[in-house]
Amino acid sequence: MEDQLRTLAKMQTLDNEIGRYRVLQHELPKQLNEIIESVEQATINLLACETVRAEISKKQRALEADIKTHQEKGKKYATQLSEIKNNKEYKALNSEISYLKTKVSEIESQMLELMEEDNAAKETVAAAKAELEKAEQRKRDKEGDLRHQIDGLETKIEEVRAARNDLARTLPVMVVKHYGNMIKNKSNQAVAYNRDGSCGVCGFVIRQQTRIELQLMRKLIFCENCGRILMNRFIVAEPEA
Ligand SMILES: [Zn+2]
Repeated sequence: MEDQLRTLAKMQTLDNEIGRYRVLQHELPKQLNEIIESVEQATINLLACETVRAEISKKQRALEADIKTHQEKGKKYATQLSEIKNNKEYKALNSEISYLKTKVSEIESQMLELMEEDNAAKETVAAAKAELEKAEQRKRDKEGDLRHQIDGLETKIEEVRAARNDLARTLPVMVVKHYGNMIKNKSNQAVAYNRDGSCGVCGFVIRQQTRIELQLMRKLIFCENCGRILMNRFIVAEPEA
C-alpha cells in the first residue's frame, strides 16, 4: 500500500506540473497579444498626435497667408491714399488701413498661441514616438521567445501526461478511476496531505482514528469532506501544489 501511496503522490506532482503548463497555455498567449496590441496602440496614438500637429501647421499656414493678404491690401491702400483729394474718401481709406492693421495684430497673437500649441504638440509626438519604440523593442525582445514557449507547451504536457499514465498503469483500476475523477472535478488536486491533523487542501479536521490509519498505511483513506486521497507526507516530501 505504501508503494501505491508513493505512486499517487508522484502522479499528483506530475499533475501539478501539467496544471502549471495549463496556466501558461492560458497566460502566455495573453502576454503575446498584449505585446502585439501595445505596438498597434502606440502606432495609432502616434498617428493621432501627428495628425493634431499637422492640423496646427495647417492653421499656421492659413494665418500666415491671411497676414500677407492683409499687409498687401494695406500697402495698396497706402499708395492710393496719396492720390486721394477728397477728404471723405481719404478718411474712409485711412480707417480701412487701420482696420487691416488691427486685424494683422489680432492674427499675430493667434499665431503666438498656435506656436505654443505646436510646441506642446511637438512634445506629444516625441513622447508617442518614444512609446512606440519602447513597445517595438519589447516585441522584438519577447515575441520569439513567447511563441517558442507556447508552441512547446503541448509537447511538454504530453510528455508529463505519458509519465503519469505509466505510473497509473501500476495501480488498481479503481484507484486510478478515483484519482482521475478528483483531478478532473477537484481543481486538479486528487491527493491531499495531512497538515497538522487537517486535510491539507480543504482544511477538514481528520479524526484521531483516521490519523492512526494514515500512519499505518494499510488502506487508502479519503478526506471525509472533499473526498481527496489523504496521506501523510513522505520523508522525501513531494512538493505541495
Ligand atoms: Zn479535504
